[in-house]
This record gives sequence, C-alpha cells and structure tokens, in this order.
Amino acid sequence: MNKYYIKNETEMMALGAELNKTVTAPCIIYLIGKLGAGKTTLVRGFLQALGHKGKVKSPTYTIVEPYNLAGRQIYHFDLYRITDIQELENIGIRDYFSSSAISLIEWPENGKGILPNADITCNIKIIKDHREVLIKFISLNV
Ligand code: ADP
Ligand code: MG
Repeated sequence: MNKYYIKNETEMMALGAELNKTVTAPCIIYLIGKLGAGKTTLVRGFLQALGHKGKVKSPTYTIVEPYNLAGRQIYHFDLYRITDIQELENIGIRDYFSSSAISLIEWPENGKGILPNADITCNIKIIKDHREVLIKFISLNV
C-alpha cells in the first residue's frame, strides 16, 4: 500500500501519470472518494500520460467513455448515478471486462455484484488543504 499527500490538481494528475506507468492490461482500478475528491483528475493524468490531449469528460450520464491510446484500450466508468445494477447489465458492462483493457471505475460501490474485483484501489480522502490518496495493489499481475 502506498500513501500520497496531494496538494493540488497538478499533483493529482502527476499521480495518475505515475499510476499509468505501473499498470499492464487487463487491469481493474477502483477510484473511491466523495464528489470532488479528485477521481476524474487522477484519470485525466493517467490518460494524458498516454498521449491524450484535451478534456476528460465525466461519463456520469453515458456511464463509460472509451479511449484507445498508445495501443491500449482504456475504459473510464462513472457509476455515480447507478442505483440498480440492472442498468449496468443493460449496457453489457460484462463485455468490457472480458477484453484486455484497463478500466478506471469511479463509484465502484454502485456496481457491487457485477463489477470484477479490483486489481488496484485508489482511496482519495479530502483533508483540510490537501488530499490523502491510498493506493493498494491487490493483484500481483498489474
Ligand atoms: P471527482 O471526480 O472525485 O468528483 P474531480 O476530479 O472532478 O473530482 O474534481 C476535483 C476538484 O477538486 C477539481 O476541481 C480540482 O481542481 C479540485 N482540487 C483541489 N485540490 C485538489 C487536490 N489536492 N487534488 C485533486 N483535485 C483537487
Ligand atoms: Mg468524477
């Protein structure tokens, strides 16, 4: 387990870029933390490290945003609005996980029962003037 003291958005993006270096597909990454904790910011750093330019949409309404970068398939999920995992069955979410992709999943709590177990979990806590990020490597093949 690694613990990080993140002072601002730039540092959160750098952490996302760092995380990108350590993962190989297939990989399931859970991003846990309240609204505004910095989950999407971490994903932005992760994607930019692979050459993504521009914004990263929050897939709150579309549930998933796919990216194909540097020969890698990446799926960014946001399950914030999900109240019933049937909604995830309906979009065929299981198919995303059968491929050799990297999945970054915000609000994994809402996908309990259908999501695969995490290979990596990132817990982001808002502390007064900074964020505390705990990264846990669960599976050995990442
Ligand atoms: P989430 O996806 O967890 O809801 P976002 O990444 O969309 O959160 O937003 C985090 C917001 O908090 C951004 O506006 C960012 O600028 C701000 N922020 C302030 N301090 C930090 C920090 N230390 N790390 C990450 N984001 C921060
Ligand atoms: Mg978000």
